[in-house]
Amino acid sequence: MLTLRRVLLINRKLIVKQSTVKLTVHRTSALGNNCYQFHLSRSLYNESSSSLAKISRRGLLRINNSILNKTPHRYISPTVALLIRPLTRIGALLFGRFFRKWWAKKTSEEKKLYIDWVSKQRQKIYGALGFFMASLFMFYIMNIEVDPLTGRSRFIIMTSNQQKVLGRLTFENYLENFKDFIVPTTHPAYKRLLRVVNRILEANQDLPQIKEREWTLSVIDKDDPNAYVLPGGNIFVHIGALKLTENDDQLAIIIAHEVAHVLLQHPIEQISRNLLQDILMAVPIAVVWALFPDLLALLLQALGINMFDILVTYPYSRKLENEADNIGLQLAAKACYDVRHAVVLWGIMRTLAELNIKPEVVPWLNTHPNHEDREKNLTKQLPLAIATRQQSGCPILNPADPIKYFNSLSLKEREIKMERRGFVQSKILL
Ligand SMILES: [Zn+2]
Repeated sequence: MLTLRRVLLINRKLIVKQSTVKLTVHRTSALGNNCYQFHLSRSLYNESSSSLAKISRRGLLRINNSILNKTPHRYISPTVALLIRPLTRIGALLFGRFFRKWWAKKTSEEKKLYIDWVSKQRQKIYGALGFFMASLFMFYIMNIEVDPLTGRSRFIIMTSNQQKVLGRLTFENYLENFKDFIVPTTHPAYKRLLRVVNRILEANQDLPQIKEREWTLSVIDKDDPNAYVLPGGNIFVHIGALKLTENDDQLAIIIAHEVAHVLLQHPIEQISRNLLQDILMAVPIAVVWALFPDLLALLLQALGINMFDILVTYPYSRKLENEADNIGLQLAAKACYDVRHAVVLWGIMRTLAELNIKPEVVPWLNTHPNHEDREKNLTKQLPLAIATRQQSGCPILNPADPIKYFNSLSLKEREIKMERRGFVQSKILL
């Protein structure tokens, strides 16, 4: 049993209460734990909200309810979705390998008979393949929906309830894994983070995706500056993230980015997309194992998957990161944080890479954009975020621009500042 402090949103008031979570499920997450590879629950976007319309009028978030997909969905269970990857890859490998061994044992007469048979059945085989591809395409079309915050179409294969189940199981799994590292609610880091989280959630109560989710906060006593949110809105922040940030404004940018991943359902979108990719990749994997000896087939399979990641998966993932940066910036703006610190935060990250204190992200080999690209993107988003902040009735920004101050520092001065904050070598994924 583990006691956690939960942040519950009830009647637009934030009530922090003690709750007990019984740890009865011990299953390993199929996904990693960096910031966007967690499971998130499905947003409640189908509820047309007057508050969303109000935000839209203010130009904060782009809404397009009129193009919401009304086709009945054909959902798939979370267990099936998570098992598809290992099952299709191993199944395709075994099938291809079995076929190669079986074929090698046939005499040349037998091979000729089989080839003749396939030639005669060619039309039926093409028909079956066409039917399979058409079914897959229909399944894809029937599960396309439009995100109300971005207006972007996406493929989602789980119902709201299925996502809740997935979220709960993942949360229990994380609690079990971190049970020795969760800091008490009396810890200063917890209190500081709770203040920031509450402020962001409270300021964005007009979004049903925030209001109708039960949020929790867990602070983990680990030095790597990481933060992530699970499907049901379970926020995890490592103590190291506090060392990275200079103030609550920068901390708010990190938290808001993670909350944005939840609102945008990015992990569910990733799981859904992976399912389709894995089904489609089963055929080339089977062909490779049918044609080539084991070692060569293994190398070709690894090469193919890596190439696919570089050309398709990573660019798509970086797009989601930018999306979470943009929406997160708006969430922080509505909470009256100084959004200019988003640019400073990524300037700090860039500087840490320049000083070889932290590794630089090589974009084409990574799921995340590099620090400089994020800094540039957030600089472009800044005017809109500042306008949102003004429209939210926030106090005027401090005339001392933190971006100008940060950029006025020499590399040596930045290095001294960072050394004072005592960074340790670790992997950063925000
Ligand atoms: Zn992220």
